[in-house]
Amino acid sequence: MPPLSDPAPQRIVPESLHQRRPIILSLLSLLLLLTMMIQPITGPAGRVSPAVAAAIHTPLFDGDRAYEHLVQQCDFGPRPPGSENLSLCRQYIVDRLRDQGWTVELQNFTYHEVACSNVIAYWGTRNATLIVGAHYDTRPVADHDPAPENRSRPILGANDGASGTAVILELARILPEDIRSDVEFVLFDAEDSGYYQDWSWIVGSTHYVDVMPSNRRATVRAMVLLDMVGDAELRLPREGCSTRSLQDQIWSIASSLGHDDVFLDTLGATILDDHRPFLDIGIPAVDIIQHNPFPWYWHTLEDTPDKCSADSLSAVGGVVETFLVETAHSETTYPPNSPLSDLPYLGILAAPVFILLVVIVVRRRRTSL
Ligand SMILES: [Zn+2]
Repeated sequence: MPPLSDPAPQRIVPESLHQRRPIILSLLSLLLLLTMMIQPITGPAGRVSPAVAAAIHTPLFDGDRAYEHLVQQCDFGPRPPGSENLSLCRQYIVDRLRDQGWTVELQNFTYHEVACSNVIAYWGTRNATLIVGAHYDTRPVADHDPAPENRSRPILGANDGASGTAVILELARILPEDIRSDVEFVLFDAEDSGYYQDWSWIVGSTHYVDVMPSNRRATVRAMVLLDMVGDAELRLPREGCSTRSLQDQIWSIASSLGHDDVFLDTLGATILDDHRPFLDIGIPAVDIIQHNPFPWYWHTLEDTPDKCSADSLSAVGGVVETFLVETAHSETTYPPNSPLSDLPYLGILAAPVFILLVVIVVRRRRTSL
């Protein structure tokens, strides 16, 4: 670039190559910047190194059995916190986990004078480094139902409640015994009552984390949350505040198992869900959830078993099973998201400002000529 004091102003060749050079250089830099920014979004996720592909576990997860657990939960009827239906469903969950030899504890707490219980299952001593969670309560009101007369009625929650729980119950049956002590299952109560009366969302998981001893917090390597994973047309974009390194591994396993059509390599939204209290205390966590959009029947009376499928439960269950087997046998840790991981999105916002600055500089140079 010629210096500003260059005698070139004497020449009247406004569109000379010399004058275009700053524009060309700026556009090239912008192109380079955009390339760098876009790469991480669609980059490593979805690809599997040959070493990982060779070591991939063959899932034993049975989608039909998981679907049966989904139907059984719905047979109790709507299951809002504090209800008799939820008590009966809780006992069903406890019994199925104990059938498979897991030690089960109820973590009781009271919220707005309603007795609630998280269900915790572990193998041997309770010091697992991997946590798999789902909520098992259902929303007390169908406030998104198109029919106003239905909006004060409770939902059945086949997808929103029963699906994640169903996957956990089948995982509890098929997990290899040599990794069971690495895994803790948690079924959260009181996730889905936000905005109902004066309730908050994610009450059960918040309580779980509040009472988690500090020495245990330091040892948990990953928390995997399953929520609304049963839809027959299951589509799972990447939830926006999940730990990306952990999410990358799970999406990579999904790809290697042929589930790119379910685990979409697209960025979704950030969701207020049971993984958030874990993230808040520095535990890597990922939310596997259908969203952007939520299923059309979300928080309506139409959230019934016929909208769900064994195939969808099987896809998610097989991926999580493989993740647990691979991770339990490794020393893998998951670095938290850094401000730099948000660079691509900040960059996209910054690009118009950058272009504007280039235009201003070029115009000022022309004026000074
Ligand atoms: Zn919900």
